[in-house]
This record gives sequence, C-alpha cells and structure tokens, in this order.
Amino acid sequence: MSNHTPKSMDAIMSLCKRRGFVYQTSEIYGGINGFWDYGPLGAQLKKNLRDAWWQDVVMGPCWGRKGPNGRPVSVVPVDTTIIQHPKTWEASGHVAGFNDPMVDCRETKGRYRYDHVQVFVPASGERGDKPVFAYMGDTPSEAKQRKKAEKTFGEVTSVALSSLPQPWDRVIGPDAEKPGSLTEPRQFNLMFKTYVGATAGEDDKAYLRPETAQGIFAQAKNVWDTTRVKVPFGIAQTGKSFRNEVTPRNFTFRSREFEQMEIEFFCHESEALAWYAYWRDWRMEWWKSIGLAGDNLILREHEADELAHYSKATSDVEYRFPFSAPGYGELEGIAYRGNFDLSQHQKFSGVKMEYNDTERGEVLPNGSRRGERYVPHVIEPSAGLDRGVLAVLCEAYTKDESRPSPEFMKIHPRLAPIKAAIYPLVAKEGMPEVAEKLYEEIVQRFGRLGFIEFDEKQSIGKRYARMDEAGCPFCFTIDGETLTNQTVTVRSRDTGSQDRIGIDNVAGFLAEKLG
Ligand code: ATP
Repeated sequence: MSNHTPKSMDAIMSLCKRRGFVYQTSEIYGGINGFWDYGPLGAQLKKNLRDAWWQDVVMGPCWGRKGPNGRPVSVVPVDTTIIQHPKTWEASGHVAGFNDPMVDCRETKGRYRYDHVQVFVPASGERGDKPVFAYMGDTPSEAKQRKKAEKTFGEVTSVALSSLPQPWDRVIGPDAEKPGSLTEPRQFNLMFKTYVGATAGEDDKAYLRPETAQGIFAQAKNVWDTTRVKVPFGIAQTGKSFRNEVTPRNFTFRSREFEQMEIEFFCHESEALAWYAYWRDWRMEWWKSIGLAGDNLILREHEADELAHYSKATSDVEYRFPFSAPGYGELEGIAYRGNFDLSQHQKFSGVKMEYNDTERGEVLPNGSRRGERYVPHVIEPSAGLDRGVLAVLCEAYTKDESRPSPEFMKIHPRLAPIKAAIYPLVAKEGMPEVAEKLYEEIVQRFGRLGFIEFDEKQSIGKRYARMDEAGCPFCFTIDGETLTNQTVTVRSRDTGSQDRIGIDNVAGFLAEKLG
C-alpha cells in the first residue's frame, strides 16, 4: 500500500476494538460522545509513548544534545492539579477568549462549529429560489447532503457557510429537513465548569483545565526559587485536559477529555528565537524517532496572520491521518509566546514573576555580575498524547493480502505494548518447560518495558497472527530442534521471516532490537 492511499479508518477502528486498544467510553450505555477508553494494549501503548516523551524530555533532555547556548538542556517536571484557582483562566485569557463561534439548529437542536460548516450549492451558481444544503466535513452529513444537493441541482460545489449572506433562510442545516433552521453564530465557551465545596454557589465555580500549561506557569516562580535550576530551563508536565469540544470527531483525534505533554521553556528574550528553532527541529525529529517517519509527517510554520497576538513564531508538527488526507492534523504546536503568560499571571496575582539572572548585567569591579531582573520569555512545545497514540496506530496499520494474516500493526519496538512472545510450538514433549524458563528470564529483563506474552494454545500460525495485530515485533518459538541444539525460531512481525538463533541469545537479540 502506498503512503498516499489513505488507509481505512473503519478498519483501524475495528482492529483497535477487536484487539483491545481503544473502546468507546460507557459503551454498555450507548457511549458518550467525545470520550474514549483504552483497553489493555492501548493503555500500555499510551504509557509507552508518555514514557518515551518523559525519558527524552525530562530524564535525558533532547538526547543530550547541547542547546544553542552550548550547554546541556535542563528540564524539570511538575505535576499540577486539574482544578486551578479560577483566576488562572482569567489571566490566561481562557474565560474571555476560549470560544468557538457556533451555529445552532432550531430543528434538530444540533450545534456546529461555525467555521467548519460547509454548504453544497449548484456549480453553475444558479440556485433560483431552491434551498442549499449545509454539512460538516468528514461526517455522515456530507454524503447525505451531497446526494440531496445533486438531486436538486445536478453538479454541485461547496462553499463555506460564512460566505453566504445572513439570514440563512434557504440553508438546510446538516441534519435538518427544512430550510431556515440555523441561527446566527454565537460564542460558546469550551471550558467545563464545576463547583468546589458543598455550597455550589457562583463564588465556588471552577473549571477543569483546558490545558496543562497554566499549572506550569503558575508554579514557575516556585520552581526557580526552590530548586537549583537557572534560566534557560524548561518545566514539563503530562496530564489530562478537558475541552467541551462542539464537534468531537475523527475517533480520538478531537475528544472532550484528553492528555497533553507540555513543556514551557524559559529563556532570556535575546535567546528566544534560537531556542524556538532548536525545540521546533528537535520535536520534529522526536516524532520521527518513534516511527512517524516518511512524508506523512510535516513541520508547518504558521503564516503571520495565523499567529496568536502574543506569539512571534509558531509551527505545528502535523500528521496525515487517514481522515485528514490529503491534508494533515496537528500533533504538537511549538510556539514562541513572548512573556505573555508570566506577565498575565503577574498582573492578575500581584506576585512578581521576575527572575534574577546573576549571569547577566554589567561586570562589577570584583569580577561578578550585577545581575538582570526580567520576566522570562517562553517557548512552548505542546503535544497531544492521545493524538500521538492515534498517529502511531494509523501509521502502524498495514494490510498485506499476501500474508496469511493480512492485517498487522507495525508499531515501533520502543512503543509496542507487547515486546515479545514466547511460544512452545506444541504443548508437549518438554517444550512448555523450556519455553517457561525462557519466559521467566525475558520477563525479568524486559518486563518493565511492556508485556511479554506466553501462550501454548492454538496453532502457531494463529498465535503469530494475533501478535501481528497486537503489534508485537518478535515471537520466539521453542520447537523440536530447540531440544536437540538449543536454538529457537525468531519470527519477525514486519517481514514474516523466521530465523534461528541460540536460546541463550534471545535476551541479547531483544536488547538490541528494543533499543
Ligand atoms: P485544534 O486546533 O486541533 O483544536 P489546538 O491548536 O487548539 O488544537 P492546542 O491548544 O495547541 O491545540 O493544544 C496542544 C495539543 O493538544 C494539540 O496539538 C493536540 O495534540 C492536543 N489537543 C488539543 N485539543 C484536543 C482534543 N480536543 N482532543 C485531543 N487532543 C487535543
């Protein structure tokens, strides 16, 4: 299958369900829109991706590569709460600005993101007094409305709803039957609200965080005051975020509860653009390193008119998902945010967010520096963990009809939830005993990285097929020959090849392959 033929999202979702990667939340109650659970394999895959990020960002930042200042990169972690002081979100701009303009449908009570609604109109431009058909891209409404529009007009083309003059008396809503049901656009705040404490009055109103970043900003001063970090340095955090997305869709891509992996990197203004370029390039390389290579992955620099008012430069790491192809969907945004966030928290809290940089300022007669006080500038690489998992699943899904089991998941060995399977060819003739001994050794050595599978039931072909779908890179089979010459069969997921290696070399083989 060429990279350019979109894979079937239905096939990927069905494998994810069948093998226990992703389930619909509350499926037994009919599900709840915008929420997804991970099954055993998915939970481990997600953990492995989070661990890979943590390892490469916090424990060994940027693979030990020096920063633009010629020194090792310094990053420390925090773990802040989902509920922050409500003023946090006034300072961050989320209370006032975290809005999507929406249109409601009076007929169906549906609510749609204004900038996502498209309309099928006649290609000729002649519509007389006939109604036109609105739809949401990538949803069942698109095919349904296209059919109706073609029946009415013959050849059709699509335009943005926003390009049609209001009132939209002749527009039929995406799921409606009659024209004129769409309201004018209105603002809709995406933050989930809750109440802290028993009284549940307006004064106790709080929000579930829509991003993990603000917890980092709110603690930045504590971090530089209480630890030995010096600017430039980063603070990293992973955790859940919540957005009451109006149109959750595309599997886990746009969910209402999701996990982020965010870094706020603090530096002096004079070095900010160099650090921005450094993080942007390294983050792109990192996504490549976990298996998203090839032209499905791009780095896209934002145009000046796309930038947030406080941002001097932003780029996105984007992946070509089957549902976005030929376009791309954002995995991570890397933004130079100036010192907007810390300045805002300084303003709203009254607490000075200035850092005293003793390595700057004029040199005094005694050779020391006077120091410089400033509100640090920030580079923010902000990634979505669930979107990362989805990209890994989409990239991994491979169909090859020439194989006995055509579907397999080429998950990068570092992320694979099952690292290896140990199989006795048959459950007799002493093979299970040898296999169990090898299994114990491999679990002891590699069990901290992921699951090690042991199974002696079913034909070996069926067992290999199951591991192919689970994305397990290697199976080791103990057979008759093992008993005579201490070799085992290594069966590779990606090539289907079978080779023999010494049973004593299995651990070494895995150590090399799992990296
Ligand atoms: P989008 O434009 O897709 O709504 P965004 O630009 O608002 O995303 P950011 O606020 O920059 O996203 O959030 C950082 C990262 O968090 C995104 O790159 C994405 O990976 C992830 N993310 C944001 N919203 C969602 C969501 N609803 N579901 C899953 N992941 C999300």
